[in-house]
Amino acid sequence: MKLSVSARAVAAGGMATALLLAGGAVADAASSAPSRAAAAPDIPLAGVKAHLSQLQSIATANGGNRAHGRPGYKASLDYLKAKLDAAGYTTTVQQFTASGRTGYNLIADWPGGDPNQVVMAGSHLDSVSSGPGINDNGSGSAAVLETALAVSRAQYKPAKHLRFAWWGAEEIGLVGSRHYVNRLATGDRSRISAYLNFDMVGSPNPGYFVYDDDPAIEKTFKDYFGGLGVPTEIETEGDGRSDHAPFKSAGVPVGGLFTGASRAKTAAQAAKWGGTAGQAFDRCYHSSCDTTANIDDTALNRNSDAVAHAVWELSE
Ligand SMILES: [Zn+2]
Repeated sequence: MKLSVSARAVAAGGMATALLLAGGAVADAASSAPSRAAAAPDIPLAGVKAHLSQLQSIATANGGNRAHGRPGYKASLDYLKAKLDAAGYTTTVQQFTASGRTGYNLIADWPGGDPNQVVMAGSHLDSVSSGPGINDNGSGSAAVLETALAVSRAQYKPAKHLRFAWWGAEEIGLVGSRHYVNRLATGDRSRISAYLNFDMVGSPNPGYFVYDDDPAIEKTFKDYFGGLGVPTEIETEGDGRSDHAPFKSAGVPVGGLFTGASRAKTAAQAAKWGGTAGQAFDRCYHSSCDTTANIDDTALNRNSDAVAHAVWELSE
């Protein structure tokens, strides 16, 4: 039942994206559009899903999870770091201690751009200890990774400096992201012009939620989904419960996307987004069944493209 709905939506979403891209190319060729940087590329769903498969394999080989202080976490970080290093990023592994175990953040800087205007996109990479954490938060981690790799493939030269981050120990209290923000010099905090957070973007019974924080960032995401004809709602379920919170507290403009966790989808939401009313957005939230089977491809595809759209738009 759900599969055929998803398949139709994928086809429709892909067509809309292709039309938008074609329209942009025509406008650029005719020089009739206002002077703007190139539009973000389409982020290949197959690339994002390949990262999720790798994260699943890492969890399976390491006791079924990728949690803070467990070997599956560091193996996840090493997988991402190798991809980013090979793509030309300057990577930094930041260590901290939480609950008596060593934790790690992975930071990847794309060389170039104005160092006084830094656009950051980040996701927590740790799972809970009870499962492999593929929707929470392999999905955000993989979408941000594939966007970073798309920046490299395009050899994108934005006006602003781009920085990507994967946080450790989010699930035990936003520890990694808070550690990072606390160690930034005051001047460096004010140089971050935007922090974009992606925590659960492929929920199997998805909603399309946009953080109601910085208005310009919120508009960027809403415009993207508006262009696809996908209605959005303001994110309320996870408000302040992810890694944007330390940035927001430090005065950094924040935004982000979310497809829902343990809250149930209402009848009105099912009417506009499809899926199952009365069922959780993610029935496997923080459970052992949060595997590669616990992903809605359409939601993952749309949100991955939205990540890239915002990264391109906000850094040009
Ligand atoms: Zn999460």
